[in-house]
Amino acid sequence: MTENGDATPLVVLEGVNKHFGSLHVLRDINLTISRGEVLVVIGPSGGGKSTLCRAINRLETVDGGTITFDGQPLPAEGKALARLRSEVGMVFQSFNLFAHKTILENVTLGPIRVRGVARAQAEQRGMELLERVGIGSQASKYPAQLSGGQQQRVAIARALAMEPKMILFDEPTSALDPEMVQEVLDVMVGLARDGMTMMVVTHEMGFARRAANRVVFMAEGQIVEENTPDEFFTAPRTDRAKDFLSKIL
Ligand code: ADP
Ligand code: MG
Repeated sequence: MTENGDATPLVVLEGVNKHFGSLHVLRDINLTISRGEVLVVIGPSGGGKSTLCRAINRLETVDGGTITFDGQPLPAEGKALARLRSEVGMVFQSFNLFAHKTILENVTLGPIRVRGVARAQAEQRGMELLERVGIGSQASKYPAQLSGGQQQRVAIARALAMEPKMILFDEPTSALDPEMVQEVLDVMVGLARDGMTMMVVTHEMGFARRAANRVVFMAEGQIVEENTPDEFFTAPRTDRAKDFLSKIL
């Protein structure tokens, strides 16, 4: 139980707007993410999906509306912001591993530096997480010695090492060779089954059907449609969603 109780949603966005200059990138976004929920965000390029992810861990500020995380408005700075960033993990399309650190070091660096975990304990936990994503035997290698799929699994282990309350995935498989997509999705499905709260920007319909509680379709900065994966993929309600699905399926 958190101090706010498990019944409160983990993330609430109300009337959120964001501009980049004259470009209106998020338009009146209202969205609630419950604890343990897996939300898939889908939609055309440029629609604001990445900006939405980045707004939730405050890599972007918003210029209207409110975002609360775990019952509190997003902190603007200082220790509270550092804590938010450790509580909201992020996995990007580009794996962003430290090239000159070993796989294990990539996973232990955050816990040691940011959370003050003792090295031995961080390494023990790091090895457990690498085993969990199927990379235990690669722990002493460097990122360039691993395949893209393996590197992305390390990035997931690195996010988990911070013991996040939620993980944001922004197109985690779009940079991968096709034969490596499934091994990453399988790890994500495992996390979803273990109850991790996840927001996943992806066009992988198989993942959405296996793991998502809800699909949000976003275009031109707006949430156009929100539905269960089955309903969304078999019977989209809007022409926008129908048109988009006809192009990706
Ligand atoms: P998506 O992830 O759905 O492709 P993004 O959130 O990346 O969409 O981008 C939404 C729009 O905002 C796009 O038109 C993009 O070019 C623009 N944009 C994103 N980041 C910035 C930025 N830092 N400065 C200016 N424009 C940006
Ligand atoms: Mg994007």
